[in-house]
Amino acid sequence: MWKVQLFRLNYDHRERDAAAAVVASGWLTMGERVVEFETAFAEFLGTPRVSCTAVSSGTAALHMALMALGVGPGDEVIIPALTFVADANVVRVVGATPVLADCTSLDDWNIAAASIELRITPRTKAVLIVHYAGYSCDMAGILDVCARHRLPLIEDVAHAPGATYHGQSCGTFGDIACFSFFSNKNLSIGEGGLLTTRNEQLHQRLRYLRSHGMTTLTLDRHQGRAISYDVIQPGLNYRLDEIHAALGLAQLEKLPAANRRRGQLTAAYRRQLASSGVTIPFAHSANATSVYHILPVLLPETADRRQIIEALKQRGVQSSIHYPPFWEFSAYRDHFSPAAAPIAAAIHPRELTLPLYPTMADVDVDYVVASLRAALGVQP
Ligand SMILES: *Cc1c(COP(=O)(O)O)cnc(C)c1O
Repeated sequence: MWKVQLFRLNYDHRERDAAAAVVASGWLTMGERVVEFETAFAEFLGTPRVSCTAVSSGTAALHMALMALGVGPGDEVIIPALTFVADANVVRVVGATPVLADCTSLDDWNIAAASIELRITPRTKAVLIVHYAGYSCDMAGILDVCARHRLPLIEDVAHAPGATYHGQSCGTFGDIACFSFFSNKNLSIGEGGLLTTRNEQLHQRLRYLRSHGMTTLTLDRHQGRAISYDVIQPGLNYRLDEIHAALGLAQLEKLPAANRRRGQLTAAYRRQLASSGVTIPFAHSANATSVYHILPVLLPETADRRQIIEALKQRGVQSSIHYPPFWEFSAYRDHFSPAAAPIAAAIHPRELTLPLYPTMADVDVDYVVASLRAALGVQP
């Protein structure tokens, strides 16, 4: 149906073989591949003393992060105004209140350290940031605010596996960081996620939360290392299974090259969209390396977004919106207003996401840009 779709999997025989090997192995969950994936991911992040805990989704990771930090009823958690609804949902699910902080500017759409500081109250229990579209947040500014107010920091790294800030990997700055490996993420395994922390106590708490608070695993008992278990704290089952971990290992090997290809395609979009009236955010991100999760653009103020999406569709180009604002959702209408985040409120109606994926061809970018220019009525 689509000539250029928003996203395509970067899959081949390697993922097929990896999954088939698990089926043949006779062991389906929490085995050697999960451990191998956690170890390989820690190595990929390249930061000393980072422990990884693989889980069933990015949302499970976020939920566990809040629980591990003791966030609950009466607490407030500061989150970005421009993000996926999971960040607000998990805060509500643990009984706390999400509080919105604004974007930095019409170019830097990431949460602003200054806006976080303005939202801090005596009830603030944690700060949750998102490296939007794969571009690192201002970590110096955010870490400074968190340190001065003694607030734990959670990084949502769903868009940014492999992104860096001054050479250090995103997902190694916060007290806890949460990755997602959902189908359309840079590392795709269907459903899956992972938490990182450098705090050994938090790491242990996350392990218990992941698997019923139990002290031993089925594999330990299978291998005769244990005959029973104790339960240390109430926990969940947010485990990752072996097939998904095997897919993760195959995808992790491809990730550096795939991220580089996303960067080349983004550079082509930037060149071709110059002087079109459409701007691509994060044009000025010094000292940071993006992993280009998506290709968001800011449409001209006068453009009719619905009409442009429809015109692109007529030419077989799929587009999307990242993200609809919280205050337009039924569950959040009474909680948030655009007045709380004027920059995000200005971006929301003008944001459009164009196709971007590592197997995309250069001519696909040409076609998308030509289609967008035609939709906008600007000369090619
Ligand atoms: C995808 C995503 C999530 C949720 O991850 P799942 O694995 O789908 O649960 C959370 N935050 C952001 C910013 C995301 O893009």
